[in-house]
Amino acid sequence: MRVPWHTSFEVQRRQYRFCFTCEDCAHHHPEATSCVHGFPNAEHLQRHYTPEDPPSDILFCKEFELA
Ligand code: SF4
Repeated sequence: MRVPWHTSFEVQRRQYRFCFTCEDCAHHHPEATSCVHGFPNAEHLQRHYTPEDPPSDILFCKEFELA
């Protein structure tokens, strides 16, 4: 699911420690920074969501499973 990025999202995700990226997912391969399902995950990694260079959209993964 893709939704527009907004500054309020950034504030709230830090305030509530919202987890939605691969690094917090049970299907993440930490050494390879890849997805064990082989999904393209460039837009699901934390480094894609830096407040200094925010993306235009937030891409949520339907397979995300909190680790
Ligand atoms: S299932 Fe989705 S969120 Fe989880 S590691 Fe794979 S691409 Fe990332």
